Amino acid sequence: MPTEVVDVIRGAPNKLYIEGEFRDASGGESFGTFNPATEELITEVSSAGVEDVNVAVTGARRAFESGDWREMSARERGRILWRIGELLRDNVEEVAILETIDNGKPIFESRYVDIPMVSEVFQYYAGWADKLHGEVVPVSGKALDYTLREPLGVIAAIVPWNFPLLLASWKIAPALAMGNTVIVKPASNTPLTALKLAELAGEAGLPPGVLNIVPGRGSVVGNALVEHPDVAKIAFTGETATGQGILRKSADTLKKITLELGGKSPNLVFADADLKAAAAGAAMGIFYGKGEVCAAGSRLFVAKSVAEEFIERVVERAEKMVPGDPMDPKTRMGALVSKNQLETVLGYVEAGKTEGARLRTGGVHAPIDGKGYFLRPAVFDKVDNNMTIAQEEIFGPVLAAIVFEDEEHAITQANDNPYGLAAAVWTRDVGRAHRVASKLKAGTVWVNTYNRYDAAAPFGGYKESGYGRELGMHALEHYTQVKNVWVDLS
Ligand code: NAD
Repeated sequence: MPTEVVDVIRGAPNKLYIEGEFRDASGGESFGTFNPATEELITEVSSAGVEDVNVAVTGARRAFESGDWREMSARERGRILWRIGELLRDNVEEVAILETIDNGKPIFESRYVDIPMVSEVFQYYAGWADKLHGEVVPVSGKALDYTLREPLGVIAAIVPWNFPLLLASWKIAPALAMGNTVIVKPASNTPLTALKLAELAGEAGLPPGVLNIVPGRGSVVGNALVEHPDVAKIAFTGETATGQGILRKSADTLKKITLELGGKSPNLVFADADLKAAAAGAAMGIFYGKGEVCAAGSRLFVAKSVAEEFIERVVERAEKMVPGDPMDPKTRMGALVSKNQLETVLGYVEAGKTEGARLRTGGVHAPIDGKGYFLRPAVFDKVDNNMTIAQEEIFGPVLAAIVFEDEEHAITQANDNPYGLAAAVWTRDVGRAHRVASKLKAGTVWVNTYNRYDAAAPFGGYKESGYGRELGMHALEHYTQVKNVWVDLS
């Protein structure tokens, strides 16, 4: 292991973060977090139990009720969020290394995409802290009626392992900007960067108890947060089935819920598109982040007249994306997050072959020096939209290419799926671009591009991809409630 990595691991917090301090789990339990590229143990991390969740919720509740955060001037709250963003930039190298060794994603992505965007998300919401406010309502009669925007209380953010810190920041930053306090349950595969963030947030001046991190099992820690009556809201990103379970259970305490779930996003390429750009976009759309991306363009719909030529271009690109050491700055295809995930993805590759699709390239385990959950990026053609590989979320670098006859056929097939997270359309015809964008049932539609995100641009699902929006001003709605005040003026 390079010495810079050893040093980063040595300095990385690995205990629960509750009320402004790092502590062991009350039961003394821990779990190992592993590097998926080397299969080596990175470190042991404290594993919270129900009792720790209770302590964290009590602390977060106290921090909320004390007013130290909620009643701090909104501008000062904004300044602290801004400072967190600055500290993330100052420490980008360390945080990026932690993300890469924990998740297996290329250091190129952690250093230049994930962590810089986390910083931007904090600084974007820093700006909102003093800008969302109530209004005066023109009611009849002699009365003054106005609204107040109030925070909800304790927010639990339950996050997955694919963009560990980024998806946590999409919840933490707007929640804090609006004056809530937060408890984060990171995914067990990737707990390290959330703990590092807690350290930086403390340095930035965030009062104790305002941000808490409780790594541990989903079925224990996640579940305890969902059941706890003092948690006002769950902001969840993860699998649709997990989200459904959380939703059912949350009914008992009537929690507010936002759900960012799975996807099977269609990428539509028309014959009049810039095919070179579209091929680059199709490959990046599915292979970026090892395809472990909720919005991955996993279904490629290509116009029949250009299908053969186009799919060939995508195959060539896939073959150039050789999996490599994620710590090498030149690597663009890292290791899948875990053995379990590798096996799931290989299972889908088998299903594709069994059901009659043609595997054009990849789909094989490619360890480096005998280690690591690397997979050669796979492209299937001759796929039917009803096949398993076209209907189910694979969450790996596997592309299913499907041919369409005309615009209507493309749209019907694209919408024929339970998910609706994202979609893209590639065409030079501006009328078609907008027409298709309006007909696709997806929370985000990209035109002649893929995988573009911005802290200001709302993101979220249609259909079984969930509800609620993250990022942008729309997210703020989910972290405030409106109080109406009547004052008699007679
Ligand atoms: P997952 O549902 O297994 O786990 C997500 C989180 O929920 C983890 O922290 C886990 O420990 C916790 N959890 C598990 N069981 C729980 C329970 N019973 N109660 C409460 N919490 C529980 O998902 P994953 O495998 O970590 O992530 C991959 C999934 O996330 C994919 O389906 C992907 O599409 C989805 N995702 C969606 C988006 C989006 O914005 N829509 C973004 C990224 C990932």
